[in-house]
Amino acid sequence: MSIFRDSLFAGRVALITGGATGIGRGIAEALARHGADVALLSRKAENLAAASAEIESATGRRCLALPADIRNPEAVDAAVIRTIAELGRLDILVNNAAGNFPCASEDLSPNGFGAVVDIDAKGTWHATRSAFRAWMKEHGGRILNISATLHHGGTPGQVHVAAAKAAVDAMTRTLAVEWGPLGVQVNAIAPGPIGDTEGARRLFPGPVADRLRAQVPIRRLGAIEDIASLALFVLSQAGSNLNGAILVSDGGLSLSGRFSVEPEGGPGV
Ligand code: NAP
Repeated sequence: MSIFRDSLFAGRVALITGGATGIGRGIAEALARHGADVALLSRKAENLAAASAEIESATGRRCLALPADIRNPEAVDAAVIRTIAELGRLDILVNNAAGNFPCASEDLSPNGFGAVVDIDAKGTWHATRSAFRAWMKEHGGRILNISATLHHGGTPGQVHVAAAKAAVDAMTRTLAVEWGPLGVQVNAIAPGPIGDTEGARRLFPGPVADRLRAQVPIRRLGAIEDIASLALFVLSQAGSNLNGAILVSDGGLSLSGRFSVEPEGGPGV
C-alpha cells in the first residue's frame, strides 16, 4: 500500500532507461501505479516486452517498450521522439541504465573501462540531451539520475563505475544550474547496495551480504521499493525545491566508514 496519492502523476509521461529490470523497473511501475504513462528503454527486447505487458496489466497505464542501446545517440533520439509521438509528452526522464562488473583495476582493460563509461555516463548524456531538445527545453521537466555511493569514498574493484558515476553527479549539478532557469530540474538518487537486485545478489553472495548488512547502521540492505518511493517523492510536487540534489539512500552505510566488503578471492564493493 503506497503512502502516495494514486493520481500523483496523472497526465504525466515518464521515460525510464533500463526500466525493464531491477531498480528501473521498480521506478517505472511505481510511476505507472500513480497515474503516469511510461516508456522503457533498454536492449533486450524480450525483457522489455515482458515488463511492459506486466506494468500495463498491473496498473492500467500505457507502457511503451523501446528497444535501443543507450550508447547510440541516434537510437536514443528516435526512442525519445517515439515516446512523445505515442504518449503525447515527456515530463520525466529517469536515467537508470548502467553496467557493472567488479574488476581489480590492474586487470581492467580499456574496453571494460570504456564500456561502463559509455553506458553510465555517455548514455545518461544521450538521453538527457534528447529529452531536453525534443521536449523539456520548451515545456520544462524533471530529470532523475540514478547514481551510486561507491565513488564517495574509494571502492576497490570499481574504478570504472566510480569514474562513470562521478560524471553522472557532475552532470546532475551542472545541468541543474544551466537548465533550472528553463524549468528543467535535475536531481539524483545515490543508492547503497539494494539487496533485491540481481546485481547485488551477484556482487554480494550469501555470507558477503550478511557481513555487509552488519555494517549498515540500520542493519538492513536497501530494497527496490526504497528507491522507487524516493523517486516518487523527488519527482512529485514534494520535491519541487530540489535541484542538483544527490540524495543518498543507503541506511547510513557510507557514513559508517566501513563501506568495504572484500569477497574471498578478490576486491568487492
Ligand atoms: P539492472 O537490473 O542490471 O539494470 C540495468 C538496466 O540497464 C538493465 O535493464 C539493462 O537492460 C539496462 N542497460 C544496460 N546497458 C544498456 C545499454 N547499453 N543500453 C540500454 N540499456 C542498457 O541493475 P540495477 O541493479 O537495477 O541498477 C539500476 C541502477 O541503479 C544503475 O544505474 C546502478 O548503477 C544503480 N545502482 C544499483 C545498486 C544496486 O545495489 N543494485 C546500487 C547503487 C546504484 P539491457 O541489458 O536489456 O540493455
